[in-house]
Amino acid sequence: MAPRFSDFTATLWYATAPAAPATGPLQGELRADVCIVGAGYSGLTTALELARQGVSVVVLERAELGFGGSGRNAGHCTPTFTHFSLPELRKVLGTPWAERLIRRQTRANDKVAEMVQRHAIDCEWEQNGYVQGALFPSHLKTLRGHMESYNAVGARTRMLDRDEAEAITGSPRFYGGWLHEEAGGVNALAYARGLGRAVLEEGGQVFTGSGVTGCTRAEGAWRVATPGGAVLAEKVIYTTGAYTVAGWPKLEETFRIMRVFVAATQPLSAESQAAVLPRRTTIQDGRGDIYVYKYNRENRIVASMFPMGARGRNPAYTRQVLSDRLRWLHPGLKEELRWDFFWYGELDMQRLTVPRLYGLAPGVVAMTGLSGRGVPTGSMLGGILSDWALGRPEADLDLRLEPLSRQPLYMSVAPQAALRGYRLRDRLRALRQKAPLPPHA
Ligand SMILES: Cc1cc2nc3c(=O)[nH]c(=O)nc-3n(C[C@H](O)[C@H](O)[C@H](O)COP(=O)(O)OP(=O)(O)OC[C@H]3O[C@@H](n4cnc5c(N)ncnc54)[C@H](O)[C@@H]3O)c2cc1C
Repeated sequence: MAPRFSDFTATLWYATAPAAPATGPLQGELRADVCIVGAGYSGLTTALELARQGVSVVVLERAELGFGGSGRNAGHCTPTFTHFSLPELRKVLGTPWAERLIRRQTRANDKVAEMVQRHAIDCEWEQNGYVQGALFPSHLKTLRGHMESYNAVGARTRMLDRDEAEAITGSPRFYGGWLHEEAGGVNALAYARGLGRAVLEEGGQVFTGSGVTGCTRAEGAWRVATPGGAVLAEKVIYTTGAYTVAGWPKLEETFRIMRVFVAATQPLSAESQAAVLPRRTTIQDGRGDIYVYKYNRENRIVASMFPMGARGRNPAYTRQVLSDRLRWLHPGLKEELRWDFFWYGELDMQRLTVPRLYGLAPGVVAMTGLSGRGVPTGSMLGGILSDWALGRPEADLDLRLEPLSRQPLYMSVAPQAALRGYRLRDRLRALRQKAPLPPHA
């Protein structure tokens, strides 16, 4: 049988991140104020916030620090929402929840910058901005709408005309673009490991190889059990995301898995770097099938896409698609491309595409459903989850506490179907607006 999760050791980040701090399995029983299950960004930033405030906190991780999405993502850190525009989000979440979440998400990169600086986390953090390109003239109007709504809540973004888009991205293909100046990028696993080290330095405890097998009431507290021991805690927070394994009944049903792949080239020559992202921004090429790329510290291009048909399944074809798209976008790129690293990961998709906070029992909550923009989101969630653990009233939290709910089965196919729909829409737009199409589009 195929393993449930893709190979963690195949990633560029695994090959290049500084070593993890020493941690090991929980042996025996201990007490803490708060027990956090899952050592990804959501769990670790929560533990960090709590430990800094003198709360005794234990993190239990089934595998190793950053084993989930946090250690294997593409490293883009853009403080926006993935699917909904801000006006749509307001309609979906209502008052006051939308405004509260928007404030947290749009300021998430301040949080990342603060944690990286304060704890000297060596994770390739660069804040060089993010450009969403316009591959069709009509796209400019949508991007302008995003700019206006994000700027109205204090984000630093602006529109680029054709020349400036080319100067910043190195691509002559765009009719213009939307620049989000505060966006950045990380070495995903280095950031997770650095957060883990920061938790330990602040007095928190972290146990790896300690999968939670159950959580029951005992001795006036919650007893969170692992194969080697247990933690007795007043409060328990599950932050197990797409990598949830048991731990609490039906938690896995709060999302559906969608796979995504990431690939990294060889370090590019100085000449190629002048032709591709000369200002080291992150870029989304503006097509609905979502091609996003940036540099890592060694000047490799790290690109991500969703599998569709043979793309993502046939390795040779996938490498060809990635190369052809990059060459088409950057005709000045002459170097032969190797894709030295190629890996997959899993997203916890759900209909609303914003994190969901589930009340599981008095004193126990779970957070899942980040749906793909987890670097800034997981980083800011520590603020919300620590507020809950510190006893902030439910009505004053920045996320609505809701009962655990199952994602409908159609969510297993809906995101893929939507991607196919976007591709078709792009083809029609290209035809109508006489815009050129990239290869394999
Ligand atoms: C390939 C890929 C590319 C992505 N690219 C980006 C990107 O470029 N930018 C972006 O913003 N987002 C991206 N994302 C999304 C982002 O990585 C995730 O949303 C985010 O890391 C989720 O963080 P988390 O802390 O909530 O969960 P995770 O990082 O998934 O952590 C959950 C942890 O819980 C542990 N766990 C599970 N069950 C148990 C148990 N029973 N007991 C103990 N521990 C348990 C797991 O082992 C895991 O370590 C990407 C995701 C993937 C997979």
